[in-house]
Amino acid sequence: MGYMLGGDQAGDDMSQSMRRLLILGAGTAGTMIANKLRRRLDRAEWTITVVDGDDEHRYQPGYLFLPFGMYRPAQLTRPRHSCLADGVDFVIGEIDRVDAETDTVTLVDGRSLCYDFLVIATGVTPRPEETPGMLGPEWRRSIFDFYTFDGAQALAAALRRFEGGRLVVHITDMPIKCPVAPLEFIFLADAYFRRQGRRSQVQLTFVTPLSGPFTKPIASARLGSMLDERKIEVETDFLVERIDPDEKRLVSYDGREIDFDLLVTVPLNMGADFVGRSGLGDELNLVPVDKHTMLSTKYTNIFAVGDAADLPTSKAGSVAHFAVDVFVGNFRQYVNGGPMTGSFDGHANCFIESGDGKGLLIDFNYDTEPLTGHYPFAGAGPFTLLAESRANHLGKLAFRWIYWHVLLPGRPIPLPAHMSMAGKHREPEGVS
Ligand SMILES: Cc1cc2nc3c(=O)[nH]c(=O)nc-3n(C[C@H](O)[C@H](O)[C@H](O)COP(=O)(O)OP(=O)(O)OC[C@H]3O[C@@H](n4cnc5c(N)ncnc54)[C@H](O)[C@@H]3O)c2cc1C
Repeated sequence: MGYMLGGDQAGDDMSQSMRRLLILGAGTAGTMIANKLRRRLDRAEWTITVVDGDDEHRYQPGYLFLPFGMYRPAQLTRPRHSCLADGVDFVIGEIDRVDAETDTVTLVDGRSLCYDFLVIATGVTPRPEETPGMLGPEWRRSIFDFYTFDGAQALAAALRRFEGGRLVVHITDMPIKCPVAPLEFIFLADAYFRRQGRRSQVQLTFVTPLSGPFTKPIASARLGSMLDERKIEVETDFLVERIDPDEKRLVSYDGREIDFDLLVTVPLNMGADFVGRSGLGDELNLVPVDKHTMLSTKYTNIFAVGDAADLPTSKAGSVAHFAVDVFVGNFRQYVNGGPMTGSFDGHANCFIESGDGKGLLIDFNYDTEPLTGHYPFAGAGPFTLLAESRANHLGKLAFRWIYWHVLLPGRPIPLPAHMSMAGKHREPEGVS
């Protein structure tokens, strides 16, 4: 890996004649793309450069477990440069702008990078400043998030201190990354307080802008009954207008009010500001792309992969992984002047932690909603779809090792990128 920190032109001047792939973001998608393509693109012909604002790669699914003391912060962080293959140049710097007319990316510190092909993989981040009152005096006092490394750690301390009362878990607006994570959080909170013998002192409420606990009907019904069983109240269709920090109250556009003692919110998720500044994004700074190839709808040498794209599927690491598999095959065809024959189907595969050492699994794509059954083998599983099992919980825990050692290095996983109907029940009668 070439590790580049300085220079006016942060590209490699000796390689002017080479073809340049520039990847913005060394998170889940950017790292996988760089590592997979480095193996497939001729080193004498192609440079691959990745840019990120810092050198700390975090395993974001672990943020769910930090507040409950199930992971230590150190288990979730590795240097980004150590995750990138030999032959990938890594530039540390904040991206300021993409000039798609001159194929140039400018960094905040003034350096510029030129490209022949650009991949935008800068993800989405929570924006508490977008909701009036969220970032007020109660932020990190009684209002917390767990979608950031700092937030999840601060929440761990707050949960330990919490003496009881109304704990509200809240989604500001969709789409958010890992849309099941807020549900997982409230399931884990229920188990956490039960284990401590304090559950009767805590009123748990799940507040969502959706009309049910999840975006798709069958999963929503199953997850809804799990919330009922755990005596967790659900407030649906709640579009927050503001938070009143003095009264500790969520206020919706239609005038509903929900009081809290401890609020665990998922702020609005937005793509990077430079995407908007560069005229490449929608109102949430997501990059409009063809949903099957991830090619920009505006520029023929720009792709967006992972959460940064406006794909109509969940924003998740698993989606990024399946999409990258399709993308790398297509990319080689495309740059050689051929048609892209791979077609991403929106495949998502997410474990849902449900507490007490159990979990569910959902597997779906653009056209097929999460169904019941077994995964990946019909009848044999070992994972159960939309049904709680110990195997699913162990699968979720194993994912951290798989992430660092198999997914990020771009090693092959014996799971097809496209969703399979094997093991799935087509009828919803399996839902109880
Ligand atoms: C609490 C939580 C739980 C989750 N659980 C799961 C799960 O169980 N399963 C699952 O599949 N997914 C889960 N996810 C989602 C998963 O982590 C993301 O979907 C995945 O990381 C997306 O990859 P990405 O490469 O698109 O974005 P990221 O991995 O977020 O990477 C984006 C990168 O771009 C960089 N960047 C952004 N802007 C700039 C800029 N201006 N300049 C320089 N660099 C920039 C960032 O520093 C970052 O490294 C979870 C996420 C959270 C927050």
